[in-house]
Order: sequence, then structure tokens, then C-alpha cells
Amino acid sequence: MYYFRSDLRAKKPVNVDVPHKRIMLCLNESTLDPFIAVKNDFFNLMKDVKLNRYYSWITKSLLNELADYAQVEKDMLIMGNGADELLYYLFSAINDVQAFAVTLTPSYFDYLSYCNAVGLKLKMLPLDSDFSFSTPKLLDLANDINCKMIILCNPNNPTANLLPPSQIEEILLKNKDRLVLIDETYYEFSQVTWGHKLSQYPNLIIIRTFSKAFSAAGLRFGYMMANADLIYQIKKVVTAFNISIMTQTMAYAILKNKSLFLEHNNIVISERNRVASALKQLPQISVFHSATNFLLFRYNKSVDLFSSLLTNEIAVRDVGNTKILKNCLRVTQGSVQENNMFIKIVKEFLK
Ligand code: PMP
Repeated sequence: MYYFRSDLRAKKPVNVDVPHKRIMLCLNESTLDPFIAVKNDFFNLMKDVKLNRYYSWITKSLLNELADYAQVEKDMLIMGNGADELLYYLFSAINDVQAFAVTLTPSYFDYLSYCNAVGLKLKMLPLDSDFSFSTPKLLDLANDINCKMIILCNPNNPTANLLPPSQIEEILLKNKDRLVLIDETYYEFSQVTWGHKLSQYPNLIIIRTFSKAFSAAGLRFGYMMANADLIYQIKKVVTAFNISIMTQTMAYAILKNKSLFLEHNNIVISERNRVASALKQLPQISVFHSATNFLLFRYNKSVDLFSSLLTNEIAVRDVGNTKILKNCLRVTQGSVQENNMFIKIVKEFLK
């Protein structure tokens, strides 16, 4: 007797499997703790936020603030517990008998996790070795009445690059009968958004998060943007009061202090450039261009380097399990000291 959906039998629980070391450079997190940064505002707000109630004034204030930041109308937004929860909602809203979505690979691994969770099929087009892809091939894969959505991660994780705007535009134009999701998780680092195209493309959905540029991975807060009609439909699968009002209060306090976080991102970007330059000086290593808060690099003994970093209490991400990312590691930008430690261990290993 199997109590659950028959397709779940062969699947595994969603699991983010990373080593836990003193220096965590494996999850694209921030080194700035938002609680420490905004706790006075947070505590002051919490005096008026009643945790014994479902409803709070904070929801409206947060929506106003978020709409202002994202430059969209309030009815073009859904808030969620991280971008992940919004992916889950979106996938469950488009799932149907025979339905499938299309994406590129390698890309964000958990598109597959949440497609699996809701029973939606996912077809993937492999990127070329220089991380480019052929628009005709992608359009071909999607050219099916059951293809409900094309997912583009921009900038892409783990390759760190932006997709060419002309290709995105063509995909949006030629897929009016299906949704196009652009995952802008790393938007604040790339400064590239398709947000201003939402009114032009009624099939466009954008997902963003507070986990990266707003330093709040543990808070679990993200948002989805689309035209009001799409948002209305997707809201049909969103649970009531899905975000704790404590989370909403912290998200509001973060937005009220947004310059603090956005300025911190400048440090992250200059650190990323510094670490990239340091790695580029090592002839055994090739570093890829990054529009994010992490770097992807290749070294032919990446597995040994990965282990050596672990031995020295540094966790990076081994992303070398696909053909085009063979021998590649992904390193998040940490504090100056953490990055120095990382560079030091890499150099010592290469000696
Ligand atoms: N999309 C991408 C591309 C990501 O890299 C991540 C997290 N690493 C997410 C979505 C999920 O982010 P969140 O923490 O908001 O769930």
C-alpha cells in the first residue's frame, strides 16, 4: 500500500546537501546579518504588530514599500517564503495532465525539485560549452501545447552569466501562449531586470528574493511580479496568511533600511572582482565572468581542491557533475577575511 501520489514513490525529499564548515561559501549567502543591522527598527515595529492576530497593518505597509522598490503596482505582487515557495506555487498553478515546463541546464537545481514536488515534468536544454544556448532549439523544445512555461534564470546560477537580452526578447515574443518565468534572484548584483517589460508582455513572470542582496536567506522572503491578471490566477494556490507577520515586519524593516544593504552589495561586487583577479593570476585556474555574488571557476583537480578547502574549514560548491561544468567549483563572496583565507588556501594547494 502506497498512500501517496504514485509518482512520489520514486522521488527523494528536497535536500540541500552541502558541507557545514566555519567559512560557508557554498550557498550564495551574505555575510551581513540583517537582524543585527535593523534590530532597533524591527523591535519598534514589533511593538505594534500583534502576533495573536492573523491580520496586521504591516502587510499593507510592506506591500506599499515593496511595490515602490520593485516599481510595480501592488496587485502585480505575491509575497512568499523565499523564491522557492513562489516557484512551488507557480508550478502547482500551471500543473495539469501532461503539462511540462522547459528550462536550460545547468541552472538552478531546485526548479527540478519543485517540479517533482508538484508532479510537473521539466524538460531541459543543455547549455553550450560557453554557456550560450540556441533560441531555435529552446523554442523547439517548448513547441508543444502541453508546455506551460519556459524558465530562464537571469543571471544564471551556477554559471553566473546573464542571458543575451535579444534571446530573452525573442522567447517572450514567440511564446505568447505560454508563460515565461525570469528568475531574478541575483538582480541587484547584475542590475539587469525585465520588470519594466511586465506591461508589454502579459506572459512574463519575475521572481526575486531577499536571500541575496538583502542578506536575509534565513528570513525566507521573496516576491513574484506579473501583470494583475496572472497574479490573480496564481493567488488561487497560495495559502491564507502564508507569510508570518514577524517575517513581514523584518522584510519591512530591511526595505526601510535598503540603502544599507544595497551599499553592502557594492562591497560584495568589489570583493568578487578582487577574488576573480587573484584567481586569474593562477594559470591553472580559469574564472568565468560573473554578474552575481559568486564566482564559477575551473581547475582540473577541482575535487582535490574542494577537499583541501574543506579540510581548512571552507565550504564551496562542487558543481562539476555536469559535462559542461566538469571540474568547476562555485564560490560565494564572503567577508574580506574569508575571501583572503580562500585565496590563501587555493594558492597553497596549487604550489
Ligand atoms: N533561484 C535561484 C537562481 C537561486 O540561486 C535561489 C537560491 N540560491 C533561489 C531561487 C531560491 O532563493 P530563496 O532563498 O529566496 O528561496
